[in-house]
Amino acid sequence: MSDVPLAVGEPLTWVEVSQTAFHHNIHVLRQASRAGGRAPLLCAMVKGNAYGHGLLAAAQALLAAGVDWLGTGDLSEIEFLRASGITAPIYTVCYLPPQHAARAVELDARFVVYDDEVVAAASAAARACGRPARLHVKVETGNNRQGLRHDAAVALAERIAADPHLRLEGLATHFADVEDTTNHAFARSQLQRFEACAAAIRARLGLPPAGHPDDQLLTHVSNSAALLLWPEVCGAMVRFGIAAYGLWPSKETLLSVQMAGKQPVELRPALTWKTRIAQLRDMPAGEYIGYGRTFRTVRPTKVALLPIGYYDGYDRGLSNLAQVLIHGQRAHVIGRVAMNMVTVDATDCPEVAVGDEVVLLGAQGGRDGQPGDEISAEQVANWLGTIHYEVVTRIGEHVQRRVVA
Ligand SMILES: *Cc1c(COP(=O)(O)O)cnc(C)c1O
Repeated sequence: MSDVPLAVGEPLTWVEVSQTAFHHNIHVLRQASRAGGRAPLLCAMVKGNAYGHGLLAAAQALLAAGVDWLGTGDLSEIEFLRASGITAPIYTVCYLPPQHAARAVELDARFVVYDDEVVAAASAAARACGRPARLHVKVETGNNRQGLRHDAAVALAERIAADPHLRLEGLATHFADVEDTTNHAFARSQLQRFEACAAAIRARLGLPPAGHPDDQLLTHVSNSAALLLWPEVCGAMVRFGIAAYGLWPSKETLLSVQMAGKQPVELRPALTWKTRIAQLRDMPAGEYIGYGRTFRTVRPTKVALLPIGYYDGYDRGLSNLAQVLIHGQRAHVIGRVAMNMVTVDATDCPEVAVGDEVVLLGAQGGRDGQPGDEISAEQVANWLGTIHYEVVTRIGEHVQRRVVA
């Protein structure tokens, strides 16, 4: 057994995020968003530690790639981005309690509202800092998590418009199942409800109709799936997450695009999760490996120890199930995933050495120019019975993120 040949302070596991992939994805998504004849603002969602890509690293890379706004989930993310020198517009999609809403106004963030108390707190904070608070009313159209139904949404919009400290900047809704199915009847009905509500608000407030040259109201409904499926409904802004990171929202979304006879855009996964081989041991046949003795070697086996575990977000459900890449070749996880250790069968990688890079998620080339392979987030999600959104988001916040070319 030998130690990993690492400099002190060099991490045992890290995530690389590719600036080139971000540039590519934002470029193709911007093109897609314009297919409807408008040039909507691009709001890239960076909630959930930028879907696990690292909040600051991803925010900077996405802004460098040309997105207009960043979409956050809570106050701590706004605080962190502003403290890190990000001056781009920030829009928050999740619930902010009144005290947090007041602080968000001070930090010059805009956010979604559907609640009188939050609106009152935003108004008071705006008065105190001498700058109007910019609010977006959430219209409930069928997702039933956040938002107000038609009449209540119109009433809140009127209330905001009548308050000199507030600005009704936008109207939003969110689809319930647009990425879950190839049947988009429900999503279409949500869209109709949203458009009816937006028209009622415009009429009540005397605002110009949608698409008019003087129209300033930002309506936004599209997540990644809607943007990829229906560029024509993009409205004034799109809020996309998963596609910015180079992942299709779902198989159903890809299939729907293909069924519509359209050429799907090429998205490039931005994230690669890596570690190094910490230890190699040659075991005879018939030995158990790890907790619970859930694996027994059936041949002389080279067991590689990886210095990562479920603490780092490598799910315990991957025990005896997942594969990793060593020299671009698949190696099976054998035995249970522990808190800080994973064992893999490296028998078929004869040249493997302690310290070699291992890819847990993403692509790796082979040795000496040999073709490599890829462990996709979708594949890991299938192993786990979940979605790739969760797989990438769950990578521990303590895992270092490095932006690479
Ligand atoms: C997370 C989120 C999005 C982005 O969804 P993707 O499927 O990742 O594109 C859009 N809108 C809201 C309100 C969200 O919470």
